[in-house]
Order: sequence, then C-alpha cells, then structure tokens
Amino acid sequence: MKAVMLTGINTMEMMEVPDPGKPAKGELLLRVDVVGVCGSDIHYYTTGRIGTQVVEYPFTVGHEFAGTVLETGEGVINFKPGDRVAVDPAMPCYRCDQCKGGREHTCRHLKFLGCPGQAEGSLSEMIIMPSGSCFHIPEEMSFSEAALAEPLSIGYYAAKLSQISKGDNIAILGAGPIGDSVLISSLSMGAGRIHVTDKINSRLDIATKLGADSVCNVDICSAVEEIKTCEPLLLDIVYECCGKQEALDQAVELLRPGGKLMVVGIPQFDRWSFVADMARRKELSIIHVRRQNDCMQAAIDLISSGIVDSSLLITHTFTFENSKQAFDLVRDYRDGVLKAMIKMEKS
Ligand SMILES: [Zn+2]
Ligand SMILES: [Zn+2]
Repeated sequence: MKAVMLTGINTMEMMEVPDPGKPAKGELLLRVDVVGVCGSDIHYYTTGRIGTQVVEYPFTVGHEFAGTVLETGEGVINFKPGDRVAVDPAMPCYRCDQCKGGREHTCRHLKFLGCPGQAEGSLSEMIIMPSGSCFHIPEEMSFSEAALAEPLSIGYYAAKLSQISKGDNIAILGAGPIGDSVLISSLSMGAGRIHVTDKINSRLDIATKLGADSVCNVDICSAVEEIKTCEPLLLDIVYECCGKQEALDQAVELLRPGGKLMVVGIPQFDRWSFVADMARRKELSIIHVRRQNDCMQAAIDLISSGIVDSSLLITHTFTFENSKQAFDLVRDYRDGVLKAMIKMEKS
C-alpha cells in the first residue's frame, strides 16, 4: 500500500510500504478515508520532534482520521466490514494503574498513532486499530466531519476538565482548531461570555461565527486591557490554546482570584514561566490538559447534533497525492487555513 512518510525536516514523500496484514484478535483492518492535518503533525514535520519524542525517518504521521472497516479480527462483535468509523488514535494497555484508574490517556504503555517510537500514523491507505479505539458514525456524517471528532474531543475534554459551570465567563487564547473546539464545547456546556484572541483575523472571524462574544487580535490591541474593560471582575477560566508564553502571562492577569488556567497548547520551547506573586495571590489553579479522556463519543454526538458547523472549521481539502501541499499550507498559516483535510480517494 501507499503511505506518505516524513523523510526529513519539511520533506515528505509517498512511499510503497507493506500492507498492514490481517487484524489480530479484537482488531479492525480499516481503509483510511480522510485524514486531518493536526498542529502536532506540523511540529514533527518542521522540527522532527515534540519535546523528547524524536522522529526516526522515514515515518508516517497523521492521527485524526475516519475510515471504513475492511476486515474484523477474532472476537469482534460490534463491527462488520463496511461500517464507517471515527477513530481515537490512542491505544491504551487497559492493564496499568492509569488505565485501571480511568486515565487511559496517560496509560504507562500508551501507543498513539503517528508518535515516534509508538505507532506509525494514519497517512496511509490502510491501518489496523484496536476495535476499542473505533466509534460508529451516523450515516449522514461525512468522513471529513468524523475526522474532526478527535480534535473536537480535546476541546470537549478541556472544557469538561475545567468543570465549567453555566454562566462562567472565559477566554480562549488561540483560535486554531483546538481553541475553536474549546469554544464549541464550552458553549454547549453553558459558558457565559467568551473572549477569544489570536493573531490571525480570519481565525477571529471564524470564532465570532462560532459564537465568541468578543475577539481581539493581540498583534493590534492589548487583549488584557480589552477584556478587563468588559470583565471588571475578571474571568473564571482561561484556556491557553496556542502554546505561547505571552498567552500564559495574559491568562494569569485575566483570571479572577480562584480562577482556573487550563494549559492546552503545545509550546515549542521547554519551560513555561508565570508571575509567582500574582498567581499565588489569586490562588490560581493551573491545570494541564493531555489530549482527551473518554470524550470521543461526546464529540461525535456534538457533531451529529448539528451544533458544529464543520464548513467553518474545514477550510481546505487536498488529495492524498498532495499531502505535502496540505502540510505546507498549515505550516505557513496561509490562505486562512484552519483545518486541512486529506481525502484518500480521488472523487
Ligand atoms: Zn491532533
Ligand atoms: Zn495502561
């Protein structure tokens, strides 16, 4: 089969690789139909690593995908060939202390698609997944919409982990696909006023269409001043969704005493810092968000409820052959790109 593999910094090539073979017990052989390009894929593409995880070339990235069941392994009863599925790229062991404690996402032996040293990614024609990582999707849901379920589940989990309550006033710093996923999810959970910041106007426009009450381009105006003017008592929760030190600093200023800072973004640097005095006086809770835990079905339900206008989120679609163009576009933040999808079949 064919796979598009990273072969060096900012280079990728379509290669012939062995077919995945037969699904083992409890596994599904899937045809990959649509793959979404994620910011984390771009980190590997442009730098060859995320933190301590380093790519050994050639390597297939991609983990946001939807597909069709081609074959089922022994003992699989809830799927049959032809079923359309959304996929959770996480493959936990279900046996360690974390898994047994309901924290499969921090499993001690977690394998995650497209993570170096764990599993090859989904940017290939076929892939084998544990059936426990696959979710049925409704007939009317497109594969592209289904491929949004994974990034949406991360935003949903961030909102859930923050224990957002009805009427909470929040800010989302960074309006990429994950920031938007937090926006959609927090709205569905009854958020009060929602303030969104970014440096790209087209992203702020999309955030407004998705329901943000105010947006601010941090290159043009001071987010802290603007938001403080509308929120004299400051904010209940701030979601850092861009991995930037300035955003973390703004969050500390914007939060009310007892507020929560949710750290969702993946920084390109190794250490965060925050103003100890202000964070301490306000007794802020700083909570990291690691991908998502058990929120795939909720994300699929949110998409099928019609709340999620996928046409706002999916700005570009590419063919499998043009995967590199998709990666370059997302890397360069060109042409108002938010989520780029790669469709495997020419149609
Ligand atoms: Zn992702
Ligand atoms: Zn485990």
